[in-house]
Amino acid sequence: MERTYVMVKPDGVARGLMGEVLSRIEKKGLKIVGMKFAVMEEAKAKEHYAEHAERPFFAGLVEFITSAPSLSLVVEGGDSIKIMRAINGATKPAEAAPGTIRGDFAVDTGRNLVHASDSPEAAEREIKIHFGDAALISYPRCDDACLYE
Ligand code: ADP
Repeated sequence: MERTYVMVKPDGVARGLMGEVLSRIEKKGLKIVGMKFAVMEEAKAKEHYAEHAERPFFAGLVEFITSAPSLSLVVEGGDSIKIMRAINGATKPAEAAPGTIRGDFAVDTGRNLVHASDSPEAAEREIKIHFGDAALISYPRCDDACLYE
């Protein structure tokens, strides 16, 4: 089963949308196998967004991500990386389709509520940054048998 890293960013927490995000993930049939509620350390935020280090929005992004608590998740399931990107919607909320989290609840690119890894390599890297060696807990869900052929 594929695993991906998902974050409800500080704006999502502050707007009371943690439950909404968790609910969409669970109802889709994906399994939450890791969860951590914390204020992200600056070093972790910089490592997480390292690919954007030269972009003009980098400093503001790191400041925002470390300014208040966020919810880190590891989500497991078939094609979970692609599915989570689809659930979140396009990076720019104006381009995010209705029915996606960003399409339904966000307006500004810098306050787009959620993150999800964009490739298997990114998922592995991001899970390592945020969960380290912490045990991820897989478990049976009673709908497992109906979700997969
Ligand atoms: P995604 O989060 O969809 O993978 P990116 O990796 O391109 O998107 O960007 C990472 C995050 O950086 C975005 O989710 C957004 O919060 C922020 N960001 C990207 N572009 C901008 C921008 N032009 N202005 C402000 N913030 C931005």
